[in-house]
Amino acid sequence: MSSYFFLEDNSVETTVKKYLKKIDENSHLNAFITVAENYALEQAKIVDEKIKNRTAGKLAGLVISLKDLICTKGIRTTAGSKILENFIPPYDASLVKNLKNEDAVIIGKNNLDEFAMGSSNETSAFGKVLHPLDNSLVPGGSSGGSAVSVAAGLSRVSLGSETGGSIRQPAAFCGVVGLKTTYGRVSRYGVTAFASSFDQVGPIGKTVEDVARVTEVISGFDKMDSTSAPNSVPDYTQFLNQDVKGLKMGVLKECFDEGVDPEIKKSVLETIELLRKNGAEIKEVSLPLLKYGIATYYILTTAEASANLARYDGIRYTYRNGEAKGLDEVYVKSRSEGFGTEVKRRIMLGTYVLSAGYYDAFYAKGQKVRTLMQKEMNETFAGLDCILAPTTPNLPFKAGEKLDDPLKMYLNDIFTVSANLTGIPSLSVPCGNAKNGLPIGIQIMAKSFDEGMTFRVGDFIEKNIKILA
Ligand code: GLN
Repeated sequence: MSSYFFLEDNSVETTVKKYLKKIDENSHLNAFITVAENYALEQAKIVDEKIKNRTAGKLAGLVISLKDLICTKGIRTTAGSKILENFIPPYDASLVKNLKNEDAVIIGKNNLDEFAMGSSNETSAFGKVLHPLDNSLVPGGSSGGSAVSVAAGLSRVSLGSETGGSIRQPAAFCGVVGLKTTYGRVSRYGVTAFASSFDQVGPIGKTVEDVARVTEVISGFDKMDSTSAPNSVPDYTQFLNQDVKGLKMGVLKECFDEGVDPEIKKSVLETIELLRKNGAEIKEVSLPLLKYGIATYYILTTAEASANLARYDGIRYTYRNGEAKGLDEVYVKSRSEGFGTEVKRRIMLGTYVLSAGYYDAFYAKGQKVRTLMQKEMNETFAGLDCILAPTTPNLPFKAGEKLDDPLKMYLNDIFTVSANLTGIPSLSVPCGNAKNGLPIGIQIMAKSFDEGMTFRVGDFIEKNIKILA
């Protein structure tokens, strides 16, 4: 028996071939923008050699895919946008280096909403991603390709990114586990920026253990990212297979008001009851500022996005309109053709809230509300180990249903954005199925840098709840 946790077959090469076949059979799901077939097969052979010599790293055997906004040296990285359709990064993101150092094999790059803006994975320039259980539904977004990849068995783990719920929401929609890490936990160096004070990378996997083990490898201080935190990274496996006796858990009252799907409510409340029966102390808590969450999130993230996306100018590594004459025309035509509708909407919104006349009324006000929310969250957490809530207010919806109504689309993130506005970690784990068989997720929020607590509670739920198919 091998001591490598992720090893699935006699050789990594066999495992890579197995996943490549699955990717091919499921190409209609559109979960990948680029499949790195040759690269993955080559790497697999190298790792097999290392395993033979007992020199392989902790992730030996792991076949992983990455949301296509994480830079990979020599492998195209598009951010789901036409403006980056031919961009091949000359370097690896720091977290990719960590994965490679531990001998994970990258099999390809997952589809996403353009620049991670969306909740349905319908805004990618490379086409929409389909829900694996019912192809007429959306898989959630923006890390929809990543969630589908794991749910349909096209990769063992995928890394997604969150700015406002983009890991947890598709994980909940697809019935898999997804972690939003604490802000500063994982280096953002080499991760295409959407809203820099929010963006964080985290894993999506079939089990809490898979997610915990990968989190450990990608976390930690990186001198290339001035916002990466110096906090030490614990061995996360020590949080698995524990009980929940005596843990103090808050249940977020606002998430059970009307507007939440009754089946989601029922399943999440049943899960909370299971925790209570096993010795957790449950108490109702309230975050009154949650009602400003979506508004604050969209003011601040669009402001940051409008600044971050100014770098795509048609001059350097981006798409360029070939006929444009003069500098202004190159900018205007390349950006007009290179960006999709949702991205343009956000650039305009962001430019507006930052403009001289409106800065104080919108952007500065938004920053103040964010500070108050952080204060409120800290106070609410006093004496608590974690806070529980449904991950989403609704089940996966039909493709096209919310595309023309941005507000409806934005409201999908109502329960997830508070973790992003306040920087805390939150793990979504499956906790039930609706009558029509669609998955339901519960999220476990913890204090900053206490990912371990989310794993402890999430692992307990995973191992003790019976999900009927
Ligand atoms: N759905 C949210 C948005 O469109 C969240 C996106 C994200 O987390 N990357 O902004």
